[in-house]
Amino acid sequence: MNFEQLNLIAPLLDALREEGYTQPTPIQEQAIPIVLQEGDLLGCAQTGTGKTAAFSVPILQLLHQRPRTVRDAKAIRCLILTPTRELAIQIDESIAAYGRHTRLRHTVIFGGVSQKAQTDALAKGIDILVATPGRLLDLMQQGFITLAHIEIFVLDEADRMLDMGFIHDVRKVIAKLPARRQSLFFSATMPPEIMQLADTILTKPQKVAVTPPSTTAEAIDQSLFYVEKNDKRSLLLHLIREHNIPSALVFTRTKHGADRVAKDLVRAGIKAEAIHGNKSQNARQRALSNFKSGATRILVATDIAARGIDVEKLSHVINYEIPNIPETYVHRIGRTGRAGADGVAFSFCDTEERAYIRDIHKLTAIQIPVVHDHPFVSEVPVTAPAAAASRPQPQPAQRSSRPAPQGQQPAQKNQQRRKWYGAGRKQA
Ligand code: AMP
Repeated sequence: MNFEQLNLIAPLLDALREEGYTQPTPIQEQAIPIVLQEGDLLGCAQTGTGKTAAFSVPILQLLHQRPRTVRDAKAIRCLILTPTRELAIQIDESIAAYGRHTRLRHTVIFGGVSQKAQTDALAKGIDILVATPGRLLDLMQQGFITLAHIEIFVLDEADRMLDMGFIHDVRKVIAKLPARRQSLFFSATMPPEIMQLADTILTKPQKVAVTPPSTTAEAIDQSLFYVEKNDKRSLLLHLIREHNIPSALVFTRTKHGADRVAKDLVRAGIKAEAIHGNKSQNARQRALSNFKSGATRILVATDIAARGIDVEKLSHVINYEIPNIPETYVHRIGRTGRAGADGVAFSFCDTEERAYIRDIHKLTAIQIPVVHDHPFVSEVPVTAPAAAASRPQPQPAQRSSRPAPQGQQPAQKNQQRRKWYGAGRKQA
């Protein structure tokens, strides 16, 4: 399947070609026709699957082809609501790229910064608004924004909106949307509260679910280092130097851990920054731009903070701590090796984390190759290759998560997520 077969118009085909996209991803293949037919959509997909293009490309086409129906030339025609500033900026950048050959206007608004530049952009009139809920409501209350002319509404990362406590704000926004509209709803997981929310927004939606990048993990060069907890810091420094790692995303389980690792690296003369939920929006954005521009070599992140971050040409992902939810491992390493690029993932496993590695092996049905010759090697557990080879393919229902050793939320959502992962490609 190629983009031409999805009935996309020349200005979009040209832009996608310029972006280097040759083939639609599964979510794009399924979602684009539904959106072009002006249907409502319930999409179970997460960042990394190509979901931004899956909704923004057909939206650009619809708005480009459809004459403005309202007299007000400045009416906002499409609203994309997303939980974080990072995601909002990324979506707006994608819309700029995909829509560069259309004359559609777009802008992004989010909190934590002065509203002046945002209200100036709005005053010029825009077709597509990407927004986080708080700033959107704020500017609506001040009279800078009306949603009365919205033709298409997208709710992105609905589960994360719920996690971050934005659900009331989301409901307030929805109450201001016109009843006649097209709605697209995306969530990585579908717990009951999310399904209820989807019911209140969507009309006869078509459902689309894609498997997460777990199936593409084989493309990544993965290595496992058995190491004592206290030696992880030295091992990290050793690998960064030995492999001359140009840029790496290092994952820790906790915010505190992220800060500590970043501090250790800086002390050792390596440019590093930490990104997590306790940092202000500005600090997070700054850290991310520094990392993207190469000013920061190592970005240390927690899973929540890293979700949605898209860094092109990321060479290495390092699991400083092994996640207790096996799917998280797959999501983490999926940040490297995107779009066919070479990716390397190192995982540091201490004695307490060995059970997590077993879960990861079960989930991915591969054994991560162990590196024996490193200066901080700890006793490597004996594995039985024959037993591993005959290991049955894991069924989604058998997957499990183990309690986190320290300060982590229990994985309440895992049960639901598993259900959806196993749900296959498309449900009519
Ligand atoms: P998303 O899930 O929307 O955050 O997209 C993840 C990454 O995949 C982004 O870097 C996109 O630029 C890239 N991408 C999206 N669609 C395609 C495609 N059809 N071909 C190649 N790369 C893509």
